[in-house]
Amino acid sequence: MGLFSRRKTVTVDSDVLVIGGGMAGCGATYEARYWGRDLKIVCVEKAKIERSGAVAQGLYAINTYMGMHWDENQPEDHVRYARNDLMGLVREDLGYDVARHVDASVHQFEEWGLPIMRDPETGRYQREGKWQIMIHGESYKPIVAEAASKAADEVYNRIMVTHLLMDKTKPNRVAGAVGFNVRSGDYYVFRAKAVIVCAGGASHIFKPRAVGEGMGRTWYAPWSSASAYGLPIPVGAKMTQMENRIVLTRFKDGYGPVGAYFLHLKTYTENAYGEEYESKWYDQTKDLVGDYIDMHPVPTCLRNHAMLEEIRAGRGPIRMVTTEAFQDPHKETVGWENFLGMTIGQAVTWASQNIDPKHTNPELTTSEPYVMGSHATCSGVWSSGPEDFAPDEYQWGYNRMTTVDGLFGAGDTIGGSAHKFSSGSFAEGRIAAKAAVKYVNDLSGEQPQVSEQEYESLKQEIYQPLENYKIGRNEIVAGTVSPSYLLPMHGLQRLEKIMDEYVGGIGANYMTNEPLLTRGLELLDMLKEDLTCLGAEDLHQLQRAWELHHRVVASEAVTRHTMYRKETRWPGYYYRGDHPKLDDKDWHCFTLSRFDPESGEWTMEKVPVYHIID
Ligand SMILES: Cc1cc2nc3c(=O)[nH]c(=O)nc-3n(C[C@H](O)[C@H](O)[C@H](O)COP(=O)(O)OP(=O)(O)OC[C@H]3O[C@@H](n4cnc5c(N)ncnc54)[C@H](O)[C@@H]3O)c2cc1C
Repeated sequence: MGLFSRRKTVTVDSDVLVIGGGMAGCGATYEARYWGRDLKIVCVEKAKIERSGAVAQGLYAINTYMGMHWDENQPEDHVRYARNDLMGLVREDLGYDVARHVDASVHQFEEWGLPIMRDPETGRYQREGKWQIMIHGESYKPIVAEAASKAADEVYNRIMVTHLLMDKTKPNRVAGAVGFNVRSGDYYVFRAKAVIVCAGGASHIFKPRAVGEGMGRTWYAPWSSASAYGLPIPVGAKMTQMENRIVLTRFKDGYGPVGAYFLHLKTYTENAYGEEYESKWYDQTKDLVGDYIDMHPVPTCLRNHAMLEEIRAGRGPIRMVTTEAFQDPHKETVGWENFLGMTIGQAVTWASQNIDPKHTNPELTTSEPYVMGSHATCSGVWSSGPEDFAPDEYQWGYNRMTTVDGLFGAGDTIGGSAHKFSSGSFAEGRIAAKAAVKYVNDLSGEQPQVSEQEYESLKQEIYQPLENYKIGRNEIVAGTVSPSYLLPMHGLQRLEKIMDEYVGGIGANYMTNEPLLTRGLELLDMLKEDLTCLGAEDLHQLQRAWELHHRVVASEAVTRHTMYRKETRWPGYYYRGDHPKLDDKDWHCFTLSRFDPESGEWTMEKVPVYHIID
C-alpha cells in the first residue's frame, strides 16, 4: 500500500459526462441539458470554466460565422474554403455539419450579452474577413461558461482527468473517467453512460522558440496539454491526420495575431530589403504541390512556405509593413486594440523592444508546431458523421461518436474538420451532446459497469509521482536533479527536444525523414519507460506529470502518422526530406491510427476522402 492511497475517493454518477469546460465543453454541457431535461449532466474541468481553455484570455474576433440570414456565405462555401486550405483533405460531412449550425450559436452568444461589433451602415455584424466577425471579446469565455454552469447539474472545477474508464462487461465501451482535484488532492471516479471529451489541443509537444524564463510564451495556450488525445488514444479510439500539425506566422516574440492586420488594416509583408517575395517562390512551390498553389486564398501552409524559403535564401527577416496603415489614427487604434482582447503580451513586447509600428515595421516569425483539430488544421479523433450527410463509411452510429462506444468528442478533439475555431467548437459541442443524449436514451436505463479493481489500481498509479518524489528527495540535499526521479519539467524538455530534432520542429527547419522518425520513436519509447519515475513535489506538479503523460501519447501519434504519410502534403507545416512532393495519386486520403490497449501495438490505415460538395 502506497503512502498516498489514503486519499479520499469521491464517486460521481452521471448520464452525460463532459470532460473539459472550454468552448466545445460549454456547448456540449448547454445542449445536453436542452435534449436531456431529466438527465444528470456533469462537466469536469482542470481549471475553472469562467477562464479556461484556449479562449480563456478573450478573443477579438469570432472566426467562423456564415451570415446566412444576410446571404453572406453558405455552408458549402465554408467547406470549399476549408478543403482548399487543408490541401484537399477534410471530412466534408463534419465541416458542413458545423457550418450549417454555427450561426445559431453566434446569435446565442449575442443574446447572452457578448458585444458583437456592427457595421454602422449596413447594421450587419462587422466583418474582419470573409468568415470572421469582430467582437469585444474580453468577456467571451465567462459569458459562455455561465450558460454551461446553469445547464449542468454539477460543474467540477480544478479536476485533472487522467484516464478514461472502460465498461468491465462490454468490450470497447466507455464507462467514465478518473482524475484528481488539483487543490484538495481528492481522487475522483466519474461513472457515466456517455462521455464527451472536449479537452483542447496541444502546445508544448515541440520545443518552443522561447525557452527558459520565456517558455510559457507560446502561441497556443501553454495549458493546452493534449488531453483531447491523451485520454482517447490509450482506450483504443482511432485517430486521424495527427501528422497535420500547424505552424503559425505571427509577430515575433509575442505571437500577436496577424489576421486583423492583413484583413482589416490591409498591411502586407516584405523581406529584409523591402521586396515582395511570395511571387518569387511560385514556380518552386508549383513544382512541389501542383495546382494547390493556384487556389484562392493561397493555403496557409504555402504562405508559410514562401516565407521559410525566403529566410533560408538569406533575405530575412520578414516584416509586416505597418508604417503606412498606422498613419491613419483609426487604424493605429485598431492595431493596438487588436492585442488587448487576447495577446496583451505583444504590445508589451513591442514596448520593451522599442518598436512603435507607426515608425518601425515589426518582424514576423513562424511558430513551433502545435497539434489541434479546430484551427487551420485537423488532427484528432476519427468520428462518426451526421446521419443525413455522411457517407456510409464515415457513419457507425451516433454523430461525433468515436470508434469507442459511448465516447464522443468536439472541438480540438475531433479530427478531419478544420476551421471550426471558437464558435464552431461550441457548435460542435452542441452537436455531440445531442447525439450523446440520444445514445443515453437508447440505452434504456442500462448502467455502465466500472471495475473497482481498475480504478483502485489507477489511483495507485496516479499518485505515484508524489511518492517517488518524497522518497527520492532524501537522496539529494539541493538542486533539482535526482538519481531516482524525473521532474515533469525535465520530462517535458526532453520530449520537446525529441520532437524538435526528429519530428520536424523549428530546430530542424520543420524537416524530417524516415530515419529521423524511426530514431524519434526509439527515443520516445525510452522516455515512456522513464515516465514511471516521474516525481511530483506537490499537487501542482502532479498535474504537470499527467499533462506530460498526455503530451507524450499525442507525440507518439504525431510521429507515427508523420512516418506513415510518405509525401509532403503541407509544405510550410513540415517537410519529409525523403518524399519532398505532394503525391495525390497515393496520398489523397486520410491516415488513421489505432493503439491497441491489449497488445500495446499501433496499426495504421488509409481511408478515402469523399468529396461531397462540388
Ligand atoms: C492564441 C489563440 C488565438 C485564437 N484566436 C481565435 C480567434 O480569434 N477567433 C476564434 O474564433 N477562435 C480563435 N482561437 C481558437 C479557439 O480558441 C479554439 O478553436 C477553441 O477554444 C477550441 O475549443 P475546445 O473546447 O476544443 O478547446 P478549449 O477551448 O481549449 O477547451 C479545452 C478545455 O479542456 C480543459 N482540459 C484540458 N485537459 C483537461 C483534463 N485533462 N481534465 C479536465 N479538463 C481539461 C481545459 O482547461 C479547457 O478548459 C484561438 C486560439 C488560440 C490559442
